[in-house]
Amino acid sequence: MLVINMAWTKEYGRQHYLENKEKLRQQGKEYYSKNKERIDARNKKYYASHRNECCERGKIYAVQKRKELQNEVFRIYGHMCACCGESNQIFLTLDHINGNGTRERTESPGFGMLKKAIREADKTKYQILCYNCNCGRWRNKGICPHKSSH
Ligand SMILES: [Zn+2]
Ligand SMILES: [Zn+2]
Repeated sequence: MLVINMAWTKEYGRQHYLENKEKLRQQGKEYYSKNKERIDARNKKYYASHRNECCERGKIYAVQKRKELQNEVFRIYGHMCACCGESNQIFLTLDHINGNGTRERTESPGFGMLKKAIREADKTKYQILCYNCNCGRWRNKGICPHKSSH
């Protein structure tokens, strides 16, 4: 008996929900079509006044955050290319030593690799390479041409 009752209640609940969902959706639609211009104008105004502000703030924040993280990475892993000794920071990148040619992106929006490298502070996993050596290594099956040409 109990099972039957439960099944019935469940079915009724579902039915009730479906009916209301349809009703609610209908109400929302009606409200929108009656107030369409007002709602659209409000959205537009809000979007226009906030869009640039938000974007700019986000951009500045991202640049600052990246700088902070990169400085921390250089402090831990050194300020020069582990292969050729390049020390101009603009050339330097963080390299995943056992990446096996898969390029882990340092440009990811969440700065995942930088954060991970700082957290782990493991010099057997990460090293600083300049762009040349980083790309060279990646193109040359994991060994920088500086090292394999001799
Ligand atoms: Zn280098
Ligand atoms: Zn090199």
